[in-house]
Amino acid sequence: MSKSKDYRFGTKAIHAGVEPDPTTGAIMTPIYQTSTYVQSAPGQHKGFEYSRSGNPTRTALEKSIASLENADFGLCFGSGLAAIDAVLKTLKPGDEVISTNDLYGGSYRIFTKIFQGFGIHFHFINMENIDELEKHITEKTKLIWIETPTNPMMNIIDIKGAAKIAKAHGTLLCVDNTFSTPYLQNPLDLGADLVMHSVTKYIAGHSDVVMGALATSNKELAEKLYFIQNASGAVPGPQDCFLVLRGIKTLHLRMQRHCENGSSIANFLKSHPKVDKVFWPGFKEHPNHHIASQQMHDFGGMIAFSLKENTEAAAVEVLKKFNLFTLAESLGGVESLSGHPASMTHASIPKAERDKVGLSDSLIRLSVGIEDIEDLRMDLKQALA
Ligand SMILES: *Cc1c(COP(=O)(O)O)cnc(C)c1O
Repeated sequence: MSKSKDYRFGTKAIHAGVEPDPTTGAIMTPIYQTSTYVQSAPGQHKGFEYSRSGNPTRTALEKSIASLENADFGLCFGSGLAAIDAVLKTLKPGDEVISTNDLYGGSYRIFTKIFQGFGIHFHFINMENIDELEKHITEKTKLIWIETPTNPMMNIIDIKGAAKIAKAHGTLLCVDNTFSTPYLQNPLDLGADLVMHSVTKYIAGHSDVVMGALATSNKELAEKLYFIQNASGAVPGPQDCFLVLRGIKTLHLRMQRHCENGSSIANFLKSHPKVDKVFWPGFKEHPNHHIASQQMHDFGGMIAFSLKENTEAAAVEVLKKFNLFTLAESLGGVESLSGHPASMTHASIPKAERDKVGLSDSLIRLSVGIEDIEDLRMDLKQALA
């Protein structure tokens, strides 16, 4: 599938990167479980030398993810955080990064607890109004790092607006597109330089793999990142790449159902007497719904809600009663999950910072899966009763 850019999403999800195996004709890319490759003379090989530098199963997946993000280059890593680590290693001491103040906890942790120690400075600001971004840029700003929708408050950041500001100041814009997936949103098409995914979540989709990915059409940046991928070595193994290639084939179907179920659950929660606020970008009254409607194809299955009784104890009570919304870290799998950000995914963010963004003690995050919607609604109903 050479001219994959000509095809639509569902076709690319099934075909991009995957060619029948040249030696056997196997339709599915095999799991090339090998560390090295024979050379007929020193330096003479078939394009693969050592599996840290390259492995055919990984190459197929990297092409597939690049194609889904309309990118020229894709790179896979041992986890989402390993992908973030590679991006940060393109920076130098003294460089500055501007990011959102409502950020995946692990991203906040690697920024502040690891790379800050190497002399890179991080600023966390509210970007719901994208004009705020411009005020914080200096000549030392080398990277703008955003997530949209944000985790867990489901705020929406204007990617086109951020890209315009980044371009004007010659700084790179990277979008963590984990929550949206390439099915709902393609940041490169909106002007971003780089897209990052925790493949662990929706892209793999079956809660059985930990992996990360980057995609870009900037050749110079891709070469730098490829150098780091090989030199630092945080690569995924071929078996995990195979599982993700398999998962991607149904990404479009899964996302359709995640969106349908998400919409139904968000509306159910909104009318429930024990629920205080529901955070979901599909609501017309969501402050940046108009931006979400422009940059996303649909609104996804991630929802957060707070309780009128705003205590951790009240949230724990609900979480314990769930039968289908399993209490677990992570998101984006076929099964519905629930979480308590203040004590789980976002515990590494200080309480004062959490309070600033509205991440209250009773906040519950749902990753709405693709089960039958009636069963999911019943589960919520009994847990909130
Ligand atoms: C999970 C997650 C990450 C980190 O990815 P891992 O695969 O767990 O290392 C980064 N960003 C977001 C938004 C995530 O949900």
